[in-house]
Amino acid sequence: MTDLTRLDYASIRKGLTSKAFTTKEVVQSYINKMDSTRPLNCYITECTDKALKDAAASDDRIQNNEARPLEGLPLAIKDNYCTKGILTTNGSKILSNFIPPYESTITHRLKGAGAIALGKTNLDEFAMGSSTITSYYDPTINPWKKEGSDRDLTPGGSSGGSSASVAARSSLIALGSDTGGSIRQPASFCGVVGLKPTYGLCSRFGIIAFASSLDQAGPITRTVRDSAIVLKQMAGHDPHDFTSVKYPVPDYEAALTGNIKGLKVGIPKEYRMEGLDFEVSEWWEKTSQWLSEAGAEIIDVSLPHTRYALPVYYIVAPAEASSNLARYDGVRYGYRAEGAESIEEIYEMTRTQGFGDEVKRRILLGTYVLSAGKYEDYYLRAQRVRQKVTDDFTEVFKSVDVLLTPTTPTTAFELGENTADPLAMYMQDLFTVATNLAGIPGISVPVTTSREGLPIGMQLIGPRFGEEVILRTADVIERVAGFKLKEEF
Ligand code: GLN
Repeated sequence: MTDLTRLDYASIRKGLTSKAFTTKEVVQSYINKMDSTRPLNCYITECTDKALKDAAASDDRIQNNEARPLEGLPLAIKDNYCTKGILTTNGSKILSNFIPPYESTITHRLKGAGAIALGKTNLDEFAMGSSTITSYYDPTINPWKKEGSDRDLTPGGSSGGSSASVAARSSLIALGSDTGGSIRQPASFCGVVGLKPTYGLCSRFGIIAFASSLDQAGPITRTVRDSAIVLKQMAGHDPHDFTSVKYPVPDYEAALTGNIKGLKVGIPKEYRMEGLDFEVSEWWEKTSQWLSEAGAEIIDVSLPHTRYALPVYYIVAPAEASSNLARYDGVRYGYRAEGAESIEEIYEMTRTQGFGDEVKRRILLGTYVLSAGKYEDYYLRAQRVRQKVTDDFTEVFKSVDVLLTPTTPTTAFELGENTADPLAMYMQDLFTVATNLAGIPGISVPVTTSREGLPIGMQLIGPRFGEEVILRTADVIERVAGFKLKEEF
């Protein structure tokens, strides 16, 4: 039989329905891959025994013609989604013993639709980072290497474990979260598809908060079709999340018509900035040519406040984080430092020992920009500029349907590179943060490998609830690009 981990979910679904193979066989193939790729450190927690039990139950359903929309889908879950009864660390020592008593809405929905959880994937601590290197559980390694080199590369972050697992085929689809690029950047580095939906489309309930006005759940997949399939099950109003929007969920798969005749594609000139790798820039141009050949109209546009997006993000995100992370005090749940003699000491020692350097840096930064006397100069100002960044998009989407940009300025960097220089690391988010500030959707789709043999991803940005149009366009790019993951890593 062909290696089942090679198939996308659309094909798995067909094979299960036609009884060409069983869910148990599918899940077992993934468990074998989890074993053979363990050195990549994609997972913090594996749930393989439970997965096999679930697979047996799934096969029963198929036998009884009761298959659900995601029946038998081997799913990896970023370890910042609360999973009832399963360790949920958020990549942090401070939650190293946290077993949630409840389930996030998204994982609840996907499991209810038939997905089978393989385990919880590695991430930058509290989803803060672009390399998965700040995880308390050691970094994840990108399955890709430069041609002729043995050196380990970062899978990107913060959803590094999720994207590396999809690329290395130790999961079929993985959940990520994206606050400033954490789905799209690692997807781009690993040669897979990463979608950040419109803010409010997918529930945040049970996803450990980083920056609440920016966080969004989204899927990481090998194909655009799989992204559309799983998004349909993720999306939709949730009364547990007060920012969740009542929006009728369309059939995203039906949007993949292959037809983009007359589509207006904007190329924002501000994204041609310093630090953009020459080859990435070349492929940006080439991708826009593909779209033009497929019948789209390419239009040069301007988003004048683009250069403020990154500084605004690094005020707003830490500010919200400093407030969200105040709850980790060693009292109610999570890690508690030993030997404290007063309540103040419990707080201080727990937080000193429980948080890593990057998280502490963000808490300090966030507390500073919110402090009396600084609040107006930083936080309030940042909020005003955030509105301007958003207005740029509103304006531009009056004349175009989608925007095409690179996902990241460069291909994957080496493990440990940029770690000593937080600003260099923050530059990773140059092309992704603006969409989070504006609450609009973005998708990264792989287009090629560079001369050094590393994946290059392009980003499509759409207006609010423009998931269908970005998925349709990404699907066209995918068909033309014919990008393939390596057979074996
Ligand atoms: N890299 C960005 C940061 O460090 C984005 C993280 C994210 O999207 N979770 O904040």
